[in-house]
Amino acid sequence: MAESLSAELRRLVAARAVYRCEYCLLPEAFALHRHEPDHIVPLQHDGATDAENLAHACFWCNRYKGPNVGSFDPLTGQLTALFHPRRQVWEQHFRLIGAEINPLTPEGRVTVRLLQLNDPERLTQRQQLIDTGLFR
Ligand SMILES: [Zn+2]
Repeated sequence: MAESLSAELRRLVAARAVYRCEYCLLPEAFALHRHEPDHIVPLQHDGATDAENLAHACFWCNRYKGPNVGSFDPLTGQLTALFHPRRQVWEQHFRLIGAEINPLTPEGRVTVRLLQLNDPERLTQRQQLIDTGLFR
């Protein structure tokens, strides 16, 4: 759980991500809630509480992700792992088109769907940040 993280590890995870969510790219400065250290592989699946298994995640990405490590690809129905911020590169799995995060791969598709990256409220917020030059 997040409570067991040392302040030093928490700072490392946040700074490494340049204080943005590693799934939806929301800058923490514009989030209603503080971003959180996400166990990429959750504790329930024997994920470790170390720098290699932690990602900086916004409240909503972390809530939607929950204890999941994968989902069914909406295109093929295949069980597919979620995007892994430590082992994969965001730009190889997603592309920003306007405010919308478009998936490029099966991992991208399951992540966009499960984490609801293009939820209407999140799209509105992302568009406002883009319009004011505060996103990307
Ligand atoms: Zn997020």
